[in-house]
Amino acid sequence: MKKFVSVSGGKDSTATALLLWERKEDFELIWADTGAELPENYWIVPRLAQLIQKPLHVVSNGTFFQWLVKKGYFLPGIINKWCTETLKQKPMNEFIKSLELSEPVIMNTGIRADEPKRYHPLEYDTKYQTTCYPLYESGYGKKEVIDICLKYDLLNPCYAWRSSVSCFCCPLQRKSDWQGLLKHHPELYAIAEEWERQSSITTEKMDGWRFWWNDDYSLTELKNWGGRNPTRPTKAQLKKQAYAIHNLDNGVLWSNEELVKKID
Ligand code: SF4
Repeated sequence: MKKFVSVSGGKDSTATALLLWERKEDFELIWADTGAELPENYWIVPRLAQLIQKPLHVVSNGTFFQWLVKKGYFLPGIINKWCTETLKQKPMNEFIKSLELSEPVIMNTGIRADEPKRYHPLEYDTKYQTTCYPLYESGYGKKEVIDICLKYDLLNPCYAWRSSVSCFCCPLQRKSDWQGLLKHHPELYAIAEEWERQSSITTEKMDGWRFWWNDDYSLTELKNWGGRNPTRPTKAQLKKQAYAIHNLDNGVLWSNEELVKKID
């Protein structure tokens, strides 16, 4: 069966590839480039491929920005995380399907032994792929993962200022990650800020219930005040106003269809 390691530039997927390489397993690398990658990823992923001498397949379903514009600057968030499916899963699945293999491929993912909640054997299996968890099954926790990356000088340098490797504009990142982005890649922070501003203009029709990357503060506020501008209403208050205007039950979230209608 053909084997792949799905890499991202992050420590866990890098360690997965290094572990299998040390075991002399035969596999290839696949990377879904979202078009919003941190610059560090563009040198760590090819360095990894070169060290272990494995083919690297870079797949894409268009860029983050292309999809953002197509979606009317509807930013992804915890509830509607459209980016993962559109920019990562879809191009990987299409690539695997395009191989037209007679049996499913083995996809090795970087779930560690110290994150059992993320270990779901069989859950992500499809007729095209079987998922394997070498780090989990070999007892590799965070320490072992960092050790193996350091051993080959392949620990992404962005860990010096960021808790995880993700898209530069990832809505799941911590406040300290945004602050790190502002310090280390101010041009990327400015892009994320502008996309957020565009989103805010588009969603203004929603009576002030604006979409930002974060619930509590905009990136402009974070830059200027270190968090929410203390003189404006909280997001919860804005939401309450919007519910009142639309006669909505305060505990009921709008469905995606309702949100899209309001944006249109
Ligand atoms: S890293 Fe964040 S922004 Fe990028 S695809 Fe994943 S969830 Fe979306």
